[in-house]
Amino acid sequence: MSRVLVVNSGSSSLKYAVVESDSGSMIADGIVERIGDDGGVPDHAAALQVVFDELADDMAGLVAVGHRVVHGGPDLYRPALVDDALIAKLEALSPLAPLHNPPALLGIEVARKALPDLPHVAVFDTAFFHDLPPAAATYAIDRDIAAQWNIRRYGFHGTSHQFVSERAAEFLGVPLDSLRQIVLHLGNGASASAIAGGRPVDTSMGLTPMEGLVMGTRSGDIDPGIITYLSRTAEMSVEDIESMLNRRSGMLGLGGEIDFRVLHQRIESGDPAAQLAYEVYIHRLRKYIGAYLAVLGSADVITFTAGVGENDAAVRRDALSGMSALGVELDEELNAERSKGARRISAESSSTTVLVVPTDEELAIARACVSVVTELG
Ligand code: ADP
Repeated sequence: MSRVLVVNSGSSSLKYAVVESDSGSMIADGIVERIGDDGGVPDHAAALQVVFDELADDMAGLVAVGHRVVHGGPDLYRPALVDDALIAKLEALSPLAPLHNPPALLGIEVARKALPDLPHVAVFDTAFFHDLPPAAATYAIDRDIAAQWNIRRYGFHGTSHQFVSERAAEFLGVPLDSLRQIVLHLGNGASASAIAGGRPVDTSMGLTPMEGLVMGTRSGDIDPGIITYLSRTAEMSVEDIESMLNRRSGMLGLGGEIDFRVLHQRIESGDPAAQLAYEVYIHRLRKYIGAYLAVLGSADVITFTAGVGENDAAVRRDALSGMSALGVELDEELNAERSKGARRISAESSSTTVLVVPTDEELAIARACVSVVTELG
């Protein structure tokens, strides 16, 4: 029995899960929110104590603690045992991911103190995309500056893109290495990837998780000129601009709402801002699908995953409508059905199979942990 506690520590929340890595069953999961807020818990150590209280007996028999770390930088991509040297490396990476890595480090530190006898393993969101082809990973900027500052496309949500692409092949009963896939991970954060034979060939997130698709609160792609223009003309500081692009843009910035269930209600009631936000979201998504069809030549599989991708039939329909000439056709009825498992939603006549595959990042992290621990003997 290999039970793993998976910790995903953000700046104001701590998500956790206890996963049975052999069977894949979720023993318990939850989230502690409003860390450092009035009415919440004071800090990450207190949040972890809440988790322990919640888990109680489910803590018995843990073999490892897995930590989701957003940015592994240029060198960290294999799941790694946490020791002081790794902590130092992660600290050095904080400037690359100032919003994400410091809270993950905090989570690691408090969990190591609380559970000193268990191995702790860091699993990186960038890992799967480490070997992106240079043409996809390289930004067309001054190459000396890029090299000096480790600027490249890193890609994020890698654990999910890898898990979902493997599950898609398994579901279809065909070898992973025979498939050209597009994976659309549409949650609050959102990213697309093109995967050929199980290897990533492109992905929409970049140096940071800000690039690419329109997200809950992030802009995705913008003209970099907007940043210099705001800095010079509106006298916004880099912190102001970064905060706007990360926390007050995307669906929230355009439509005042990040939850697609509410957004659809607003559109129904004739809210033009919500309507435009939705149209911008869909337009961007279609651009990436088109780009990745071209990058791959064509796709055997397009898979939707994460909160929006798994649940929002309208988004899936609008993302793929009018693409029959590209070999992509949904079955409206299958698309409208709901289920918890993996399922096909494309028409029989579609040469590209379209799937909905629930992601399970916790299970993927738990399995990565167990493989590290097993290697240790
Ligand atoms: P995170 O990136 O935080 O892990 P999730 O993958 O859980 O996000 O996605 C959360 C988002 O999924 C919500 O903000 C909401 O927009 C969307 N969502 C969840 N359930 C539904 C649903 N039934 N219909 C439409 N959208 C949904």
